[in-house]
Amino acid sequence: MNDERSARRDVEILQIDLRRAYTAYARELDTAVERVMRSGWYLIGKELQAFEQEWAEYLHVRETIGVANGTDAVELCLRALGLTERQAVIVPSHTAAATVTAVIRAGATPVFCDLDERSMTLDPVSVRRAIEVCQVRGFDCRAIIAVHLYGHPVAVDEIESIVETFGLVWVEDAAQAHGASYNGRHVGGFGQAAAFSFYPTKNLAACGDGGAVVTNDSEVANRVRQLRQYGWNEERLAQNVGQNSRLDELQAAILRVRLRSLDSEIAARNRIAQKYIEQLSGSEIILPEVPPNLVHAFHQFVIRVGDRESVRARLLEEGIATAVHYPVPLHKQPAFAKYALPEISLSRTEQVAREVISLPMHPWLTETEVSRVCQACLRVCKF
Ligand SMILES: *Cc1c(COP(=O)(O)O)cnc(C)c1O
Repeated sequence: MNDERSARRDVEILQIDLRRAYTAYARELDTAVERVMRSGWYLIGKELQAFEQEWAEYLHVRETIGVANGTDAVELCLRALGLTERQAVIVPSHTAAATVTAVIRAGATPVFCDLDERSMTLDPVSVRRAIEVCQVRGFDCRAIIAVHLYGHPVAVDEIESIVETFGLVWVEDAAQAHGASYNGRHVGGFGQAAAFSFYPTKNLAACGDGGAVVTNDSEVANRVRQLRQYGWNEERLAQNVGQNSRLDELQAAILRVRLRSLDSEIAARNRIAQKYIEQLSGSEIILPEVPPNLVHAFHQFVIRVGDRESVRARLLEEGIATAVHYPVPLHKQPAFAKYALPEISLSRTEQVAREVISLPMHPWLTETEVSRVCQACLRVCKF
């Protein structure tokens, strides 16, 4: 997370600045932390219960279950939906390793598919192709994990129609999309279940690890609630082989403070993105697009350029840190390569992975900083 920070001592504009986030809410955060410390109650308590209720209300979903991190959240969605061994789950290859790790840990088999270059999310045509390939190979394809990557909602209508046609379930990986919406509804409420991460760099951030499963299905919620704590039922009898995946009281209290400002932070991210787009348009740089029926959460502001490594190096010389999400597609990584199926083209994923750069993006970037980044990009990307 901090490799950009240590790469050079005189970086002036960080890609993300967590100290500014703390400074913005220091008094409220300190008060919340002290309240928990003095309560003498640190796990499965009032703060968790209150946060679960507040997050469900924010999203307009029936249930939130706090868990230890976003990877567990994806895994628990799948386990609670009854995915069993040997069943196939369709996933993008251009995403965090966590998405696919969770599928494999749940005992299922990931099937990679390609992305749509404009949204950087699942390409519905490639998803249909993957389902076809599963049928030909005799795989029991049961689910799709749709990742709202960078904060851009997936093509919800098309995914829903595929899910209906083939009798599948779908899980939203919303780890990067707190506050994003599609046709006026927050992401997280569309799939049978959705997973969030509250890792410190995410749009809604804890000061440590944290995650949540959200769902409108009470049975799924009850199963996740059991699985997150030893498989216990209400009498503390292990009903299933569960795990230990709890969101602690300190993180829950911190998240309650941060949730109050989520909407204004998403608005700030969108103002910054708009400035980037205005100042960078007309250049060679490929910019993100936001269709009018979406609210993009701009977890990352990702541009695409030809000669990425030299662009990044030259920006760093100008004191500007950037990041790459993600340089190596999952189907090219040692742990996951064996799941790649040659019949499913992943050429757009491979192309995009060579070109993406995440510019500095956080709600406390100033207008001057954004302009400096833009001017440097325009200088550096001139051919
Ligand atoms: C961060 C992230 C996760 C995993 O979250 P952790 O809390 O780090 O386990 C899963 N999926 C995506 C798309 C993410 O960005």
